[in-house]
Amino acid sequence: MSGNWEIFDHLRAEFDAPYEIGTWFLVKNEKLIKRDGRRFSNDPNGHPVVIANRYNPRRHGPNVTGYPRSASVPGGLTHEAHLPHSGRLVCIINRTGWVKLHIPVAISSAEVNASTFSCCEETNSKLMHKIKGVR
Ligand SMILES: [Zn+2]
Repeated sequence: MSGNWEIFDHLRAEFDAPYEIGTWFLVKNEKLIKRDGRRFSNDPNGHPVVIANRYNPRRHGPNVTGYPRSASVPGGLTHEAHLPHSGRLVCIINRTGWVKLHIPVAISSAEVNASTFSCCEETNSKLMHKIKGVR
């Protein structure tokens, strides 16, 4: 939506400041652990995950709660690809998919950083309302 906000998001990632609810990261599947202790997926790659809580790397604990997204396995909240973000290099939400709101995962906090950062969900999206509603 606004180029200024995108620059702000990028700076936040660069300087290791808190990440807000709705921030997307690309996390290796071995780091995405379901409540039953199993991995979200055994695929050797990773999935986009949106975090469900504000997360400050300096203050908060060893895990972050989030919801994984699949562009190949239906189920959960249908979620459109992000429109191209002007000025953004790394958005990974580029195909229609499904956010697994019914499969919360614990993400090792070491995986939540500038190198795995993708982008921020729009504040008024349906997904953001859902995330805030289930907390
Ligand atoms: Zn994006």
